[in-house]
Amino acid sequence: MPTDWDQERRRLSRKLEALRKKNYLPQGLLQMVGRTAELQLEARAAAKVTVPADSELASPDQQAQGAAILPRARFTWDAGQAADLFHRLLELVLAAEPPLSGAAKTVAAALADGELDLPAAFAAYVSGEEELFAAWAARLPETPRLLDFLVSASLAPGLESLAAALAERQAKDRNWTHGHCPVCGSLPLIARLLEKEGRKHLTCAFCHTEYRAKRLQCPFCLEEDAAKLEYFEAEEEPGIQVHVCRSCNCYLKTVDFRQLEHASLPLLDDLESIALDILAQNQGLVRPTLSAWGF
Ligand SMILES: [Zn+2]
Ligand SMILES: [Zn+2]
Repeated sequence: MPTDWDQERRRLSRKLEALRKKNYLPQGLLQMVGRTAELQLEARAAAKVTVPADSELASPDQQAQGAAILPRARFTWDAGQAADLFHRLLELVLAAEPPLSGAAKTVAAALADGELDLPAAFAAYVSGEEELFAAWAARLPETPRLLDFLVSASLAPGLESLAAALAERQAKDRNWTHGHCPVCGSLPLIARLLEKEGRKHLTCAFCHTEYRAKRLQCPFCLEEDAAKLEYFEAEEEPGIQVHVCRSCNCYLKTVDFRQLEHASLPLLDDLESIALDILAQNQGLVRPTLSAWGF
């Protein structure tokens, strides 16, 4: 189904309006997030994707056994689109408040003198190599995830477009009980309960595909014993639950779209409910995948 970009833009602006009402999120940060999401939407419409031949993809039989259609490390991207977006996002961060602006200057200088190789950084992110990002985290202790944010946000539009094309090739009508993303094999970022039955859909942390999953199952360790699956809510965040698995000690935030008055967009719902991450992590619970916003 072709994407309706006008509808996507309207949904984004409604969501950003709802976010601005959260007074604990700094306005400067929200401006940056909003502009990033707008630039990503423009880039998504422009990104060129190359879909591998069917022989390169997991067969329907392999998919039925739980194989991702194309593992993350074999994703390709539009190098020109990604580099262009990286530079635009870097400009945004350079204009932000300290310490972000100072950290962005360090990144810009490393890029200018060739110490930071952008194509290599993109390749490292897609193949899930941590060394480069760990080195930058140590170098920028006040903004440890700045380089991850710039790289992953620049790649996201192209990766999402490829994932959408791959999802069309997927075997349909399967009962997916494997936890990870059926398109790229990564773990989920957040969950939503949709439709009046409250069907659980997970959003992939890497390719952002939203896929249907079993309601009573931990997506990380696949625990299905109802006695080990709990959830809690906080009064300040109506409509969002923290689902906890007592087997692996991990949690996943779950947006009950049926209880939410405003628009829901998974990556921004995640940012909006950051207070729940603090509550969960104070209880010693672990979040297996990081937010798309660099914290
Ligand atoms: Zn995925
Ligand atoms: Zn678990």
